[in-house]
Amino acid sequence: MAVTSVYFHPVFLEHDTGHHPETADRLVVVKRRLEEADLDLDWIVPPRADVADVARVHTTTHIAIVERIAGKGGGRLEMDTVVSPASFDAALHAVGAGLHAVTRAIDEGTPAFLLVRPPGHHAGSDRGMGFCLFNNIAVAARYAIEELGVARVLIVDWDVHHGNGTQDIFYEDPRVLFCSFHLGNHYPGTGAIGESGSGDGLGYTVNLPLPHGAGDGAVRAFFSDVLMPLAHEYRPELVLISAGYDSVAGDPLGGLTLSDAAYRWMAGTIAGLCESVGAAGPVCFLEGGYDPERVASAVISTLEGLHLPPGEISAKLSPREAKSLSDLQGTLKGTWSRVFE
Ligand SMILES: [Zn+2]
Repeated sequence: MAVTSVYFHPVFLEHDTGHHPETADRLVVVKRRLEEADLDLDWIVPPRADVADVARVHTTTHIAIVERIAGKGGGRLEMDTVVSPASFDAALHAVGAGLHAVTRAIDEGTPAFLLVRPPGHHAGSDRGMGFCLFNNIAVAARYAIEELGVARVLIVDWDVHHGNGTQDIFYEDPRVLFCSFHLGNHYPGTGAIGESGSGDGLGYTVNLPLPHGAGDGAVRAFFSDVLMPLAHEYRPELVLISAGYDSVAGDPLGGLTLSDAAYRWMAGTIAGLCESVGAAGPVCFLEGGYDPERVASAVISTLEGLHLPPGEISAKLSPREAKSLSDLQGTLKGTWSRVFE
């Protein structure tokens, strides 16, 4: 099996959230399970990002606030989001993993999985929230555009929560096509079908909120009927994934019911896209996922999927899910008339 770069730094375990769902134990379990699995992994210890690179996306005020709270011994950015003494350093290394991985994906064609924390997709340019300090995937996308000459980046977000931070950062920017499915009426409350970008970015934000209990069939249809046709038309040069595993069946903070096979199928389908359009990646950024053993199994399935044919998953679709998909296609038709006739 071809090799995948896996990024991990011990400082990720020192981001101490106390009594909290997003704990170091998540990474400890996933790392152990990956080491036991029969996978060809190239473990990389990521460098620390420069603050100037974080500032490609975040305001210097936000960066300084995180640094200051860590420096004074820790505290909270908001109710859910803890900053411990080591959190600033951990967050800079999480960003650094993204920068290293996209550079390597472009130079050498290696797909990557980033076993990082704190996660990133809820962090907006001027704030952290929802366990996220800096938006790792957004900084990587912008770095690739500004420094590596990438013209178009596709970001797929399969976390159960909407990636509101990533969406906000690129809402008016057609150089990033942001596509998310998530549980509707759930934290953080954004991600309606009608949120489809604005200005030059109109049609470059794609949201599919799903009903409670939706699973493999809905995701399969989203990929087959919306995401893949759109991506083939867009022709990304780099593909990034906000890989959250709170969308797996049984996650304590979730409500969707994806099987391990669904992650293998999604990863394989996205890897196939990269091959067919000549895009670098995919580079997968760990986001949520709060049952460590379930996260580990689904991460292993993802890593298998990066190098294997996707196989098949359930095509069962409820009438409500089908209606949402057709509403989404209707919303996107204005920008993507050749894709959705
Ligand atoms: Zn999440």
